[in-house]
Amino acid sequence: MFDFNSSDKWLRERRLMVENQLKLRGIKNEAVLQSMLAVPRHCFVPANLQKYTYLDGPLPIGEGQTISQPYIVALMAELLEPSPGDRVLEIGTGSGYAAAVLAQMVATVYTIERHASLAAKAQEVFQALNYGNIITRVGDGTKGWPEEAPFDGILVSAGAPAVPKSLCNQLKPGGRLVVPAGERQCQELMLVRRGEDGGFSEEKLGEVVFVPLIGEEGWYR
Ligand code: SAM
Repeated sequence: MFDFNSSDKWLRERRLMVENQLKLRGIKNEAVLQSMLAVPRHCFVPANLQKYTYLDGPLPIGEGQTISQPYIVALMAELLEPSPGDRVLEIGTGSGYAAAVLAQMVATVYTIERHASLAAKAQEVFQALNYGNIITRVGDGTKGWPEEAPFDGILVSAGAPAVPKSLCNQLKPGGRLVVPAGERQCQELMLVRRGEDGGFSEEKLGEVVFVPLIGEEGWYR
């Protein structure tokens, strides 16, 4: 299942990805760049599509879902400003790739996926690659993970109609939520910061296109 033997070839492709797709577009956070270089993205891609792994775009992963474009994963991770002791929540595990990128940089990643089949596949890859600091759950992530809250950072990997209130409320003071929000076909990438006084501020960071976030505080279906 995992092509460890030709790792040099994949590493060469990842170096090019980091230089051409990430650094040239302005990703600067050294931990993020190192993490994107380290995580074997091809292990999270269906076998028949592995040769396209390091191209500059998303790829299908089954259930009508996608693994996001490398640049978008790096951009969202950079916006979280991850630190080694952080506990981070991701909504939309998908292939598990973004969770693995985060897991390289923080203490623990909690990740929720609504499709059980995708969550199971992702968990298999986490085990094979020894990501012991990723905890997965199947369900509607729009309500967050109250039992494990509060979080230093929350990353939503699917497009919401509006910023989910439950997720804001599960941020620590000083915490950050990165979420695409807006229309079904096209969203604005939003950065929500929680101040030390518990209040929230929002920043819009440009247009993005994500598959829909479906659930109680997302799209109906
Ligand atoms: N982060 C993923 C990766 O690295 O492969 C990409 C995620 S894909 C763009 C979005 C994922 O969000 C899909 O797998 C979809 O099933 C999931 N999703 C949508 N609504 C959800 C919800 N309410 N709770 C949990 N997962 C959800």
